[in-house]
Amino acid sequence: MKPLVIRMHAGDNVAIVANDGGLVAGTLLAEGLTFLDRVPQGHKVALCDIAKDAAVVRYNVPIGYAVKDIAAGSWVHERLLHMPAARSLNDLPMATAKQTPLEPLEGYAFQGYRNSDGSVGTRNILAITTTVQCVAGVVAFAVQRIKAELLPRFPHVDDVVGLEHSYGCGVAIDAPDAIIPIRTLRNISRNPNFGGEVMVVSLGCEKLQPERLLPPGSIELKSGEALDVVCLQAEAHVGFMSMVDSILASAEKHLERLNARRRETVPASELLVGVQCGGSDAFSGVTANPAVGFCTDLLVRAGATVLFSETTEVRDAVDQMTARATTPEVAQAMAREMAWYDAYLGRGSADRSANTTPGNKAGGLSNIVEKAMGSIIKSGTVPISAVLSPGEKASSKGLIYAATPASDFICGTLQLAAGMNMHVFTTGRGTPYGLAECPVIKVATRTDLATRWHDLMDLNAGRIADGQATIADVGWELFHLMLSVASGEKRSWAEHWKLHNALVLFNPAPIT
Ligand code: CA
Repeated sequence: MKPLVIRMHAGDNVAIVANDGGLVAGTLLAEGLTFLDRVPQGHKVALCDIAKDAAVVRYNVPIGYAVKDIAAGSWVHERLLHMPAARSLNDLPMATAKQTPLEPLEGYAFQGYRNSDGSVGTRNILAITTTVQCVAGVVAFAVQRIKAELLPRFPHVDDVVGLEHSYGCGVAIDAPDAIIPIRTLRNISRNPNFGGEVMVVSLGCEKLQPERLLPPGSIELKSGEALDVVCLQAEAHVGFMSMVDSILASAEKHLERLNARRRETVPASELLVGVQCGGSDAFSGVTANPAVGFCTDLLVRAGATVLFSETTEVRDAVDQMTARATTPEVAQAMAREMAWYDAYLGRGSADRSANTTPGNKAGGLSNIVEKAMGSIIKSGTVPISAVLSPGEKASSKGLIYAATPASDFICGTLQLAAGMNMHVFTTGRGTPYGLAECPVIKVATRTDLATRWHDLMDLNAGRIADGQATIADVGWELFHLMLSVASGEKRSWAEHWKLHNALVLFNPAPIT
């Protein structure tokens, strides 16, 4: 492969090296630039002389300021950059971006499970809601038996999942922020992939009682039925096996109803896609995330819903985001979530810069500003039509900012609560991330990763950097792949290997 660097915008004074293994000092580019240093793959090279204190510009945004003079052809790494301060949340542009009507995208459909609340599942899963971590071992034991003894009789049910978590007791449950973990659990049990069949396993003495988790009206009950709760401390239970038998008996009733369901043709507008990145590198913002962003625009044009998240990776682009809001109210909600998160981080003496990892930096991302500019591209170009606080459920379509931490498992958990029925995850460094509750399609940013992890990565966006495909090509491929995975025709690699990360709740409230 000939020496190749990628510049994201004509206004940029750095570009990143695309070649596997990087480029050595003395490399001469067709553009006439000679490398003064060896520059690793994904890292930045100065395209011109950059004076001390001048802006280093990528994505047409200052990602930092030079701590000393940087000569053209030098490796521009994080130690050469001062990070800009976070933009003030005052005087943001509110819903100012010119909004052109979207061209509808019609004629795309998938085979899904329609639920009585109008939502659509991409999988038909029995989920067992738990009120407290204390019951997790018993539920795991019961789930094993359900899979071995009951599931073979219900071939139209895809899986049985215990919704295990760390919350429920030993927590300051009346603290204002306790609403976040509680509504997260409540809304996950309402996820469209669970068909409205809610069953609960409770211990008995925990703070998060079943009626507090799922108060009357919070879920649609089958006529004449009460909330289905197996309470382990109930006097009727004599010995461990009687608890397990109760859980199996309850599960059987729900499995019968789930098994009677069939997929039907539904429009692509029923997709509720959560997009996320993790293990990011400098290619994330060049290949995979732009392809996801292209696909986001397709989905929204098709009438679907896309959730983008990861507050610390959006913070540095807050002015772009508030400008893209459909109304000043949506823009204000965006600013409100950013302010809440600034305060949350501040309580722990941290700020958004705590986001970046050693792997990000080794992959060429100098700081959170550069990472953020590459992360927000997943949101495409369409207007932002709603904002959700952590753990809230989506109630409208279009592009939604679902405020979550960037932590992969916490973001995924909160997107499940928002009603996600399809998850797209981009990675550059590589992660085997997966969820039991929802299909996860993983997109590699580099061909090298896609080749080495050929049975973990579902799509190779690295072909964009190799010049083998365009952003639009990969965006369309992802769109078609999503419809096929949503229909159950195809399984993602994470589903194939049953790679399931834990549900991890966001609990900003105190522990007792
Ligand atoms: Ca993430």
